[in-house]
Amino acid sequence: MADAGPALHLKPGKEKSLLRRHPWLFAAAVARVSGVPASGDTVRVLGADGRFLAWAAYSPQSAIRARAWSFDEAQRIDAAFLSTLIGRAIRTRACFDIQSDGLRLIHGESDGLPGLSVDRYADTLVAQFTSCGVERWKDVIADALLLETGLTRLYERSDASVRGLEGLPEATGWLRGGPAGDAPAPPTEIIIREHDWRLTLDIATGHKTGFYLDQRDSRQRFAIHTRHRKFQRVLNCFCYTGGFTVAALAGGAAHVTSIDSSGPALERARTNVALNGFDVARTTFLDADVNASLRAFIEGGQTFDAIILDPPKFAPTAAHADRAARAYKDINRLALKLLVPGGELFTYSCSGGISADLFHKIVASAGMDAGVEGCISERLQGAPDHPMTLHFPEGEYLKGLVVVKKPESVNY
Ligand code: SAH
Repeated sequence: MADAGPALHLKPGKEKSLLRRHPWLFAAAVARVSGVPASGDTVRVLGADGRFLAWAAYSPQSAIRARAWSFDEAQRIDAAFLSTLIGRAIRTRACFDIQSDGLRLIHGESDGLPGLSVDRYADTLVAQFTSCGVERWKDVIADALLLETGLTRLYERSDASVRGLEGLPEATGWLRGGPAGDAPAPPTEIIIREHDWRLTLDIATGHKTGFYLDQRDSRQRFAIHTRHRKFQRVLNCFCYTGGFTVAALAGGAAHVTSIDSSGPALERARTNVALNGFDVARTTFLDADVNASLRAFIEGGQTFDAIILDPPKFAPTAAHADRAARAYKDINRLALKLLVPGGELFTYSCSGGISADLFHKIVASAGMDAGVEGCISERLQGAPDHPMTLHFPEGEYLKGLVVVKKPESVNY
């Protein structure tokens, strides 16, 4: 062959997913590597018959051995190519109805940039690099982000555990616009506007890049339901910094009980309640385990008009699905029992390993065990700045159901 350069040669029959433009190439599909590509280098991916399939970023240690950049042999993978992708991703956000100055600008594979997440919080950008490919191009990506947004501050939160799978160490701190000379470091505590609310977060210490932007639309749905149904007693489980708590108060709830096992998150949730001018007497914050708290409420004979269950990722991959299914079922069963007849459960799974269909089945079986009949009145998903693409079904990670507990049970 005329060209030099490193290449991955696939085993026979292993070209199918790349031909469907799925960006991941698993190690087991690779017959051999020619050349000596370094971590993050661009490699040619060739089928067993030698035909070109993709340009991809090489991850020598990961089970996902390469991630496709382009399926066009004529495409050069360089700074101009990456800047074009970044500009396109940012412009795509203008198509979405996003009621916030906190939004996801780049959502990894869905934006053609596998392993890169970038969130904008007011005037500060926060990026997470979780693959060797984007790590290799970090400087180019940082410059392009500033150019395309016109902003000056970019903080790195590459402390996700998945970096270990790629053989990359953790990295956090200012990538651009950090302290210079005698000038103090820019603040990592930021206030964003979401819908009619103001919410504080800390990009250095918060979960992920600081906040769960993907639940923005669900928080608004919850506020609307609370207002419409006049919910008085709300229970917000896994409340983090109180986004749904603020939504419930904004919707007119008389009292919101919020549970999380993180003390700092609860502290910030209290701050967010006060920041929006709500009386903290309308709130109770519990630093506790949700499962144990739900059981204690049942024993104490307590009930709620509406309950939110937004747990952390119980099943990162399908391999964890069985155990996770039991954990989801348990909390949903308990929550359905705690609802008054006619009450509503907003229940979520952000596990990539649990499909929307399986989640529906889990909640259905929780209802069966609780002896509760319910209607699913809405299906929910991540906010549109966390898009799914046609070629990458793994992009669908967050799913939710609104379940209305039937007002009276009927023997049938
Ligand atoms: N609904 C939130 C996001 C929830 S993230 C929002 O809108 O911002 C999941 C939260 O669950 C995290 O804050 C984490 O601290 C908390 N958590 C994890 N395990 C828990 C447990 N067993 N009991 C209580 N909280 C838990």
